[in-house]
Amino acid sequence: MKQFQCQSCGSTVFFRNSSCLSCGAKLGYSPDHDAMFALEPVETDAAQGDGRKQWQAFAGPRFHFCANADHGVCNWLISVEDEQMFCRSCRHNQLAPDLSIEGNLARWQRLEQAKQHLFYSLIRWRLPTPTLADGVSEPLVFDLIADVQTDSGVQRIYTGHDAGRITINIAEADDDERERRRVGMGEPYRTLLGHFRHEIGHYYWDILVRDGQMLNEFRNLFGDEREDYGAALRRHHAEGAPPEWPGSFISAYATTHPWEDFAETFAHHIHIVDTLETAHVLGLKIDARAVHDDALKTDVAFDAYRVADFDEIVAAWTPVSVALNSLTRSLGQQDAYPFVLSRVIVEKLDFIHRLIRAQQADTAPVAA
Ligand SMILES: [Zn+2]
Ligand SMILES: [Zn+2]
Ligand SMILES: [Zn+2]
Repeated sequence: MKQFQCQSCGSTVFFRNSSCLSCGAKLGYSPDHDAMFALEPVETDAAQGDGRKQWQAFAGPRFHFCANADHGVCNWLISVEDEQMFCRSCRHNQLAPDLSIEGNLARWQRLEQAKQHLFYSLIRWRLPTPTLADGVSEPLVFDLIADVQTDSGVQRIYTGHDAGRITINIAEADDDERERRRVGMGEPYRTLLGHFRHEIGHYYWDILVRDGQMLNEFRNLFGDEREDYGAALRRHHAEGAPPEWPGSFISAYATTHPWEDFAETFAHHIHIVDTLETAHVLGLKIDARAVHDDALKTDVAFDAYRVADFDEIVAAWTPVSVALNSLTRSLGQQDAYPFVLSRVIVEKLDFIHRLIRAQQADTAPVAA
C-alpha cells in the first residue's frame, strides 16, 4: 500500500482517512488516479450537473463521493463526468448489512475497509473486475450478510465464493467472533482482509485458470481440481491435514483441495506484494547487524506490483517477514506473518505472479 499526503497541509494521511487529522481537510481516494485528494466543496447551481454534491481537489479535478460515503463506510471518489453512483469497490455490492440491526454499521465499515484494500491491489494489477452491468457471464458481486433467524432456527451463512458471488458472513467483522473461530479451527492467522483476498482467489481461478491457458501447469503444481470437492472438504474436517503439509502447502486448510490451495496461495501473493510495497515506500532497509547472512538483507528497492521476477520478491520478503515477526514478538504480539515459504510454495506463488502478469498485457496501465 502506498503512503499518501494531504495536499492542503502536507501531513501524512492514510488510505482509510476521510479527513486530515492535522488540518481537517476533507479527503477522498480516487482509484482512477491511485491518489488521495484534499477536497473543497464546489458551489454548483441547481440546474447544473445531476444534483449531486461536487468536490474539487486542490488545483485538481472535480469529483463526487461514492453514495456509500453517506453511511460513512466509503471515502472513494468518482469523477464528475462519471454517472456511476457507487465507486469501483462499492458498485460490486449486491447485499449489504441490515442497518436496522445495532452494530451492523460498524461491521460494514470494517468490511468495506478490507474490501477497498483488496480493490486497491486488484486495480494496481489491472485485474478484471466486471460488474453486473457489464453483462458478462460471471460478474464479481459481494454479499455482506449475517446468519438469518427463521422460525425453525438459524440459517447459517457461509463465507465463500460461487461463480463470481463472494459471500462474507459479517460476524467475521467482530474481533471476538473471528478470534473464536480462528482458535477453534487452529489457524495461526484469520483477518477480514485475508478472507477477501482468499475468496477473490477462487474468482480468479475461474476466469484466469479454468478459462485460461495455464490449466495444465496449474494441475501439475496444485493437483487435479476435478477431485470431488464435497468429499475433500468432509475428509479435511474429519481427518485434518496430513502431517507433512508444511513442505508443500502455505496452510493446513490449503491441503483440502486444489481450489483451496490456489485461493490460500493467491491470498498470500497479495499479502506479500502489498506489504513489500509498503516497505518500499517507507524506505525500509533490513540489515541484521548481529547476523552476517545476506539472505537477511534488503532495501526493498522496487515496487513489488511492478516486478516481473518473483524470485526478486521472495528475496526481499524473507528479511522483511523475519523483521516483522521479530518486531511483533518484542511487543508481546503474535507473529505478524506466521508462515514458512518452502520451495514448492514459492513455485506456486510464482505461478500466480505469472498468471496475473500475463493478463496485464491485454489491459492499459492505470493513470499515474
Ligand atoms: Zn491536512
Ligand atoms: Zn464506495
Ligand atoms: Zn476457499
